[in-house]
Amino acid sequence: MIDLKSMTLPELTEFLGELGEPAFRGKQVFSWLSRGAESFGEMANIPLTLRRRLEELCVLTPPEVARKQVSARDGTIKYLWELGDGNCVESVLMRYRHGNTVCISSQVGCCMGCFFCASTIAGKVRDLTPGEMLDQVLFTQKDSGAPVSNIVLMGIGEPMDNLDNVLKFLETVNHPDGMNIGMRHISLSTCGVISGINRLAELGLQLTLSVSLHAPDSPTRSRLMPINRAYGVEALFAACHAYFKKTGRRISFEYAMIDGVNDHDWQADLIAKRLKGMPGHVNLIPLNDVEERPFKPSRRTAAFQKRLESHGVTATVRRSLGGDIDAACGQLRRKTQKEGNPQ
Ligand code: SAH
Repeated sequence: MIDLKSMTLPELTEFLGELGEPAFRGKQVFSWLSRGAESFGEMANIPLTLRRRLEELCVLTPPEVARKQVSARDGTIKYLWELGDGNCVESVLMRYRHGNTVCISSQVGCCMGCFFCASTIAGKVRDLTPGEMLDQVLFTQKDSGAPVSNIVLMGIGEPMDNLDNVLKFLETVNHPDGMNIGMRHISLSTCGVISGINRLAELGLQLTLSVSLHAPDSPTRSRLMPINRAYGVEALFAACHAYFKKTGRRISFEYAMIDGVNDHDWQADLIAKRLKGMPGHVNLIPLNDVEERPFKPSRRTAAFQKRLESHGVTATVRRSLGGDIDAACGQLRRKTQKEGNPQ
């Protein structure tokens, strides 16, 4: 069966052209799909014969809400979606003053093995299709009734490990005939896959690149993040500097504060040194407890932030949303797995 939602507009137009349809039909179908149509029957301006033909040839399975948790504190909503094949992924809707943001997953599970992260404990099952990424945005918006203006690719999975599909998704969600979400309203987070950072730099997209740094020295970073054994910290920063030179876009560095591991002053000093020549922004994240792991949240976040700022580095402490609903990376899917529910 053909998956229309994973097609870019040119691909969709070509496909419909092969069925004998005029070029404008691509745009019409594309815009229905981008509005979250759940059946071809809804597509009122599409001729009935074509709707029937598409029903025979294509799948249009919207994801189903397997679990949904709403934070009583801040209105954050966490969705566990069941996909067409029974796998589950998470998305989180966060309500900020600057607009509603949805955090989406890019893979079912993750193979990167970051030691503090719940998403990777059971490994990677498969990549998500561009359509499955788009569905998370569309159906979060549809179910919650909250118009989504920002997207962060910070849910389950490593986007750079599924970059072809991620790029197609970005093209679709950014398209004026689609959801029309501006690149500057989209962030993509990576654990530091340099080949992917280089590829994005070449494309020069105006999205915000987030790099999960978590330690500025290779011994600590390799202990926390196996990717660092393939691409060391020096190489990672070289790629980041090159990315900034090429795109002019400020990179955001994610830094989960872990007690006694990455919260020493000398590590703040080293971050500042490595950022020299580039306007980086360090986002200090209170570590979310993962039951299976020994790490504890740092008690030095404010001091660490001050130390960074003393070097002229912009550092913010991330406001934690949805703490009462397992809204951190992979926690809901993990919990559901442990309870023996769908994968
Ligand atoms: N694979 C990508 C995107 C998904 S993870 C990446 O690594 O960037 C999204 C962010 O959450 C990353 O910065 C990740 O390091 C962080 N994260 C994972 N587990 C966490 C935890 N227990 N506490 C705080 N942040 C965590």
